[in-house]
Amino acid sequence: MTILYNDRFVDRENIQVDIEDRGYQFGDGIYEVIRVYGGNLFCLEPHLKRFARSAKEIGIDLPYTPERLGERILELVKKNNLTDGTVYLQVSRGSAPRSHPFPANSHPVTIGYTVSAPRPLEALQKGIKTILTEDIRWLRCDIKSLNLLGAVLAKQKAVEAGCQEVIQHRDGMVTEGSATNVFLVKDGTLFTHPADNLILHGITRQVVLELANELGIPVREEAADVDDLFHADEVFVTGTTTEVSPVVAIDGKPVAKGVPGTITRKLQQAFEAYIGLPHQS
Ligand code: PMP
Repeated sequence: MTILYNDRFVDRENIQVDIEDRGYQFGDGIYEVIRVYGGNLFCLEPHLKRFARSAKEIGIDLPYTPERLGERILELVKKNNLTDGTVYLQVSRGSAPRSHPFPANSHPVTIGYTVSAPRPLEALQKGIKTILTEDIRWLRCDIKSLNLLGAVLAKQKAVEAGCQEVIQHRDGMVTEGSATNVFLVKDGTLFTHPADNLILHGITRQVVLELANELGIPVREEAADVDDLFHADEVFVTGTTTEVSPVVAIDGKPVAKGVPGTITRKLQQAFEAYIGLPHQS
């Protein structure tokens, strides 16, 4: 498989990660996952914008412009003949003798590679089961940092409970999933956590908010509490690989009737139209 290594295309076998790469030792870097549908990069621009913002927030000077990165990623997709899947893109602060402060002379290391993956049709059709868990992550969840231990531990809990995702909360206030944003519907209004420092500003979240506006569904970007979740008419999560996935159970209790709701279905259809695919879910 061809990967992007800094500004070059190389075979995966020919790449070695240095033992003192700060991404590897400190999680000192940032990343993006971009969806590919039918060979096209979906929402490339907002992903590159978020990538640049994350880098800036942690003081990494990106060695390449977003435009250059976009071109290279597109080339990578073509080289690997990827039709459906994702591109993983990351930049670490680079390699230097292990010490916490920013090193004086490190060069950021950029890596991009492709993964072939189908759409999550079963989750889209039947919905997913979730558990609630306390959000133990740091207070800059708006930065898409390589430090994913909070998400790893949360997702593992879900798996051990036979579920597909967690819904995290801080002192009872619902924030987001481990790799998704959370929405609920109550009396026809859509609620989701505001795009502040406590959640990742999901690209899919933003698309769904725009689609809701177009469909005339009232939207409130307000944090819900756990109790609101249990009394919601519908709950769903959004993400690059998850799309708009209905949540049918939380902590073993059905959400409303335990089947995907009508507003969720409408948004799924609108989302599929937006990505230019025939309706399948
Ligand atoms: N929240 C978190 C913590 C995530 O990791 C992700 C996945 N990137 C999302 C939300 C969804 O964001 P997006 O729609 O941009 O994939």
